[in-house]
Amino acid sequence: MAIKVGLIGYGTIGKRVADAVALQKDMELVGITGHSYDYKIEVAKKKGFRIFATDGKEDFLKNNIKLEGDINNLLDEVDIIVDSTPKKIGKENKEKYYLPKKIKAIFQGGEKPDVAGASFVAQCNYDEALYKDYVRVVSCNTTGLCRTLNVINRNFGIDSVHATMVRRAVDPWDIYHGPVNAIVPVLELPSHHGPDVQTVLHDVNIFTTAMSVPTTLMHMHSLIVDLKKSATPEEILDLFRKTTRIRVVRNAEHVRSTAEVMELAKDFGRLRGDMPEIVVWEEGIGVKGKKLFYLQAIHQESDVVLENIDAIRAATGFKDGKKSIDMTNKALGVNNF
Ligand code: NAD
Repeated sequence: MAIKVGLIGYGTIGKRVADAVALQKDMELVGITGHSYDYKIEVAKKKGFRIFATDGKEDFLKNNIKLEGDINNLLDEVDIIVDSTPKKIGKENKEKYYLPKKIKAIFQGGEKPDVAGASFVAQCNYDEALYKDYVRVVSCNTTGLCRTLNVINRNFGIDSVHATMVRRAVDPWDIYHGPVNAIVPVLELPSHHGPDVQTVLHDVNIFTTAMSVPTTLMHMHSLIVDLKKSATPEEILDLFRKTTRIRVVRNAEHVRSTAEVMELAKDFGRLRGDMPEIVVWEEGIGVKGKKLFYLQAIHQESDVVLENIDAIRAATGFKDGKKSIDMTNKALGVNNF
């Protein structure tokens, strides 16, 4: 029996998760919600997705969008909801709909950790989400930090981590926000990323700082890791190469920037030019004593999509985390080049 999935919040993350659910053999996308009429809803209609309205019903009807009902009608048909609404709305939806109707839900990183019984990155803590009613997929940055730090911790041990997040200003479609011509430091230390990593990697001692810069193409992290056991750059590289959902790229191939990483993803033929793997540079790893330095880039719009799929399986009781990761990767062409 396929897992019946509903999608609430059809935006940057939601439209990708909807496509990803539709590609899984063990899942059925029951429908998506439209909150206001726009081009994304027109595309959903062309894809044949069933559309339920959370708001703006008149506008949908005026534009010939057939509605299957409202959010309650969608909830009546599903085993689990992926809620990818903007931050704080997920929690409101939980109180208003999912709790009273006893519907399982996956939330996104914009929600506070207490919205769910587990914060989640599949390759780090799949089992913690097993059978949970509510699971929170952590933010794109936290997902990236967890994927690489987890394997380093398992193989060499981590004493402490200092990481700086250089964050893209906005997503590429966003004409409203910035910065356009400034570097904006996050004047809260640690930035929220460090404590958020610890919701997944509970024993990793990490301190983070962050800033926003005028680009839409990916985040970049600069990490300094104090290792318990010394390692060579080659050993770290080998580890990253063997680890799923991490991609090693090379300056030697002229992949020198986030612009070229995004171009590479398009050349792979990826849907929307997505790069859900965390990108590390072969030439961007250094070691001094037991201190490891590396740089990684995060495609904010897509890394968490994989995690949402695995979170659905974990919450609905699919016990084999490794198998789930393999199924998701295969369906979505991850690490296929
Ligand atoms: P978005 O603004 O692109 O999409 C949100 C969608 O939800 C929009 O289509 C909007 O119309 C709809 N919506 C708004 N209010 C609603 C409501 N009450 N009911 C139903 N739908 C409603 O947002 P996003 O970037 O996809 O972010 C969604 C979540 O994912 C947030 O928690 C965010 O922190 C997290 N996230 C975002 C990114 C990113 O880079 N964009 C990365 C990782 C995680």
